[in-house]
Amino acid sequence: MGLLIVGSIGLDDIETPFDKVQNALGGSTTYISLAASYFTGPIEIVGIVGDDFPKEHMKMLEDHNVDLEGLEIVEGAKTFRYGCKYHYDLNVRDSLYTHLNVFEKFNPQLPDKSKKSSYIILGNIAPKLQLSVLDQLQNPKFVVCDTMNFWINGAMEDLLKVLKRVNVLIINDSEARLLSNEPNLIKAAHKISKMGPEYLIIKKGEHGALLFGAETVFSAPAYPMENIFDPTGAGDAFAGGFTGYLHKNRDFSFDNLKRAVVYGSIMASFCVEKFSTKGLENLSPLEIRNRFIEFRELSSFS
Ligand code: AMP
Repeated sequence: MGLLIVGSIGLDDIETPFDKVQNALGGSTTYISLAASYFTGPIEIVGIVGDDFPKEHMKMLEDHNVDLEGLEIVEGAKTFRYGCKYHYDLNVRDSLYTHLNVFEKFNPQLPDKSKKSSYIILGNIAPKLQLSVLDQLQNPKFVVCDTMNFWINGAMEDLLKVLKRVNVLIINDSEARLLSNEPNLIKAAHKISKMGPEYLIIKKGEHGALLFGAETVFSAPAYPMENIFDPTGAGDAFAGGFTGYLHKNRDFSFDNLKRAVVYGSIMASFCVEKFSTKGLENLSPLEIRNRFIEFRELSSFS
């Protein structure tokens, strides 16, 4: 059975200190699907776009074994749009606008085959929509969830309901502090774990990621990158690599979760090397494997 992904599909305007792009392919589902597609398939997505969404993007996703049966295309409506501007420190970005457009009236309807999905990634969308997806699933076994400050600030009540029903929450360090109201990340992790998720992953941008289990912590290194062009979607690429790897081998031991975190970091590192989704569109298994070996060498010592 495929890996089910629900989230946003959109068009982004992105500005970094080096360059800018407009109308670029974006959205959480898009980055997650592409990253996961290098490990497993098919990828079933549930989402919505307007009729302004370019067909070439759909073709590119289908070429990556992404099944678009659950993609609703609304005639006469506009696709979700997001604009952001990065600071000189690329870990910091200002969201310039979030135009929900088609998302305002989105009521996710899972195709019958997707209702049977056991592995699900709830990408970054309104927690209310994440809940509606969970309600339609017959037997979810492994639910991975992402969210962001926009929803922590604006939809906390629904988000807390989602967290009670997920196995893994993936957020970044500032989101962890905001969600827990706690500046220290370790204390923040303890507080968030009590909200429901069995595992918590806190991404720290270019400084790696922390995986928290019941009584264990794993600190994954970050890949030392010389050329970061566009950090947009790095978190989603992480979620796609992490879950895609687990979906392929179905091993949920802590050691394998650690490897999955490294594969998540690898996909994030490819993502930021190019603008928009370009860094995830043409990878080879060998490139991914080689980066895994580099990661291993980076953090091994005696
Ligand atoms: P990330 O950089 O991992 O936070 O993901 C960036 C992607 O998330 C962009 O391509 C945006 O289109 C999408 N995005 C930004 N804000 C939201 C939001 N509030 N809800 C859903 N998707 C969003």
